[in-house]
Amino acid sequence: MNNEKYIREDERTPEDLRDIRMEIDVLSNANGSAYIECGGNKIIVGVYGPREIHQKKYSKNYGAVLRCKYNMAPFSVKQRKKSGYDRRAAEISKLITEALKPCILLEKYPRSSIDISIEVLEASGGTRCLGIVGASLALADAEIPMKDLISACAVGKIDDHIILDPSEYEDNNGQADLPIAMMQRSKNITLLQMDGKLTHEEFIRGMNLGMKGCKIINDMQRELLIKKYNGGIE
Ligand code: UDP
Repeated sequence: MNNEKYIREDERTPEDLRDIRMEIDVLSNANGSAYIECGGNKIIVGVYGPREIHQKKYSKNYGAVLRCKYNMAPFSVKQRKKSGYDRRAAEISKLITEALKPCILLEKYPRSSIDISIEVLEASGGTRCLGIVGASLALADAEIPMKDLISACAVGKIDDHIILDPSEYEDNNGQADLPIAMMQRSKNITLLQMDGKLTHEEFIRGMNLGMKGCKIINDMQRELLIKKYNGGIE
């Protein structure tokens, strides 16, 4: 399939991300926060901690416990979603925790917790990846020491074309979905999921495209943080 000439339902080329807007320091009561809009997605993230855990059974002597909660507001999707923590939210919370863990210097804070709340206000495909991007920014905003920023984006397949950052329509009607999160400096992949069917060649092409998308998002994250904390001086 000629990927170059393919134009998507929202007029993007296969290699285009949706427009992204990121902000940090948007909540006054959290230690760190971020807000992200991407296509029809609106996601807000708050970080609390590191805070000492008093109950021994929940604390770890060798480092902080990372607790991440992903939640979709009932009004975030077209068909009102039942409020509360369902199986999907529990699964996504777990995978986001695991995706973020390798980049945080948890060992610096024994017997403490770092809590991350990801609230999806409007969802339009790709919320787990955007949640990771927002959480990474909010952790930096909270000045929690990290080895690297984590960036994330998904790759999909629709009409036999490999595409970057599937929209909700493409997510629902596509042939495959491949969310990726990675640390930019070390190139370590910390999240890789796949639904659907890809050939080996499509998978390799999809991974390369997803890594390209992560790099673009990482540049935006860095630029935002540099602007905020260095007065624009790199
Ligand atoms: N979605 C929905 N209702 C739900 C869960 C998801 O309408 O209860 C929509 C929402 O737009 C979401 C998309 O389906 O972004 C894709 O969901 P998926 O589980 O693939 O996760 P995501 O792509 O958001 O990480």
